[in-house]
Amino acid sequence: MSKWNLIINVGRCENCYNCVIAEKDEHVGNDFPGYAAPASVSGESTIRILRRVEGQAPMVETTYLPVMCNHCDNPPCMKAGGDAITKRKDGIVIIDPVKGKGRKDIVRSCPYKAIVWNEELQLPQTWIFDAHLLDNGWQRPRCQQACPTDVFEAVKLDDNAMAQKARTEGLNVLLPRLGARPRVYYRGLERWDACFIGGSVSVEASGKVDCVAGAEVSLYQGDKKIAMTESDDFGDFRFGSLPGKSGAYRIEIHHSAGTAHRGCELHESLYLGEIVLVPRPSEAGAVPVSMRAPMS
Ligand code: SF4
Repeated sequence: MSKWNLIINVGRCENCYNCVIAEKDEHVGNDFPGYAAPASVSGESTIRILRRVEGQAPMVETTYLPVMCNHCDNPPCMKAGGDAITKRKDGIVIIDPVKGKGRKDIVRSCPYKAIVWNEELQLPQTWIFDAHLLDNGWQRPRCQQACPTDVFEAVKLDDNAMAQKARTEGLNVLLPRLGARPRVYYRGLERWDACFIGGSVSVEASGKVDCVAGAEVSLYQGDKKIAMTESDDFGDFRFGSLPGKSGAYRIEIHHSAGTAHRGCELHESLYLGEIVLVPRPSEAGAVPVSMRAPMS
């Protein structure tokens, strides 16, 4: 039987909050008996956008991660909630808006912190995958409809087909070690944990410091060269997708204006700052041509 799954494209979220607003618009002041009671206008949203900021000025990167109810196949909330929570045949988990009344314990049962407490109605509430709309022929939830950068993709597939899709497309779920078997998958989740090493290449000539475009920058781990790039028009370079706390690295930089190298220990994303090239002996004293590539 086909069941609903949601795929979230991690790198595409721009934190515009359209999904959060659409969800509020759908549920605040609107009662959907059997699905959800009205959401609180001032309460927490059932869709949250987590933010991760890495690096140091001026090289800073921000990644956003939407999180909501995962509609788990082995949901810890159901174990705590008893008959107040049901799992539909299409995979969607619903907290009964009548039986759930007063059950604040249900909020604490979700390891993903996906259940919010509606203080006015004394009710635990989640993102219901807009089941009330899907049951009326909609093909996608409001968050997907409202997102301008195509972060969300609802797919209805049987479990085998979804497992195959997850394998072939490298989709991952949050906290798989919990065994909750979420139906919300993430594409590019490795970006959430990944780190970078970056820096800016420059050269000193006639008492002036200028950035160096087109320097060849190599990244080594031990004796092994694992990546190579070039400094851009501003002298900046960056190696991304590195695992955090992955130990010692070495950077080697070569350019006709000189060379440089740096060692570093990667715990979290690292901006090495300005790296000034040391002229090779034969080049010392030579007057360098402009190091900056012409701007078009
Ligand atoms: Fe239940 Fe939390 Fe899983 Fe949603 S994410 S089904 S609320 S355990």
